[in-house]
Amino acid sequence: MSSWSCPHQVDDLCRKVKGAYCRPGMRGCVLAGKIAFQDGVVPRPVWPAGADPRDRAEAEAALAASEGEEG
Ligand code: SF4
Repeated sequence: MSSWSCPHQVDDLCRKVKGAYCRPGMRGCVLAGKIAFQDGVVPRPVWPAGADPRDRAEAEAALAASEGEEG
């Protein structure tokens, strides 16, 4: 595996994307746009079942806003 470790990752979760599972290159990740996915689609974040819904809503709103900016 890579020797790079993300400062946002804690216990397999992403603190940058409000507690979603870490998936390098997903939307909202610091590596988004830098990793190519086989199907060409950048995955959306997925949260664990017990995630705080407020955190999740906040992260999804931020992603929706950034997608709007992208047109
Ligand atoms: S999803 Fe990206 S930003 Fe978040 S912890 Fe993983 S590598 Fe870091």
